[in-house]
Amino acid sequence: TPTIGVLALQGDVREHLVALAAADALARPVRRPEELAEVDALVMPGGESTTISKLAVLFGLMDPLRERVAAGMPVYGTCAGMILLADKILDGRDDQESVGGIDMTVRRNAFGRQNESFETAIPFAGLAGDPVTGVFIRAPWVEAVGAGVEVLAEVPAADGPDARIVAVRQGNLLATSFHPELTGDHRVHEYFVRMVEAAGR
Ligand code: GLN
Repeated sequence: TPTIGVLALQGDVREHLVALAAADALARPVRRPEELAEVDALVMPGGESTTISKLAVLFGLMDPLRERVAAGMPVYGTCAGMILLADKILDGRDDQESVGGIDMTVRRNAFGRQNESFETAIPFAGLAGDPVTGVFIRAPWVEAVGAGVEVLAEVPAADGPDARIVAVRQGNLLATSFHPELTGDHRVHEYFVRMVEAAGR
């Protein structure tokens, strides 16, 4: 059974701890570098990416996070956590630092005013059964991905024929614009736990 941390600086930490436990992982909050060193994998929750970024720098976690990602630690980021995994951020704050690791450009708060919060059913590549319920809350979308990035889910664009990328995977890194931890459907967390196990952690 892998031990999976949830970055507990700000955001919906408790919901991820519950979802990970339901997906048969040992889940614990991570606030300090010593706690990060003890986990096999990490979830970065939804919340406010500028705040999480600022606190990660303040708590001395930003460099250790980058080092663990570079060393292959599996990480799953939801919403603000997705932004933190992006190599490039559009509409971020000037001083907003990213952990990075996924070769993608995300646009912060991309779904805009009318659509600040919405729910929609989304087919998720690699998950059998029903589509997942995507809960979007001032969510980012992925505007561009590099060749090594697998697109797992998209939603139709409101204003044209394009689709918006809302879930991706690159190696041991997984990111969704939406919040499976708020739905009671733990299949995306189970998918991540299987990724962690396959990584030999
Ligand atoms: N808009 C938030 C941000 O920038 C993300 C919102 C969320 O995590 N629900 O970080």
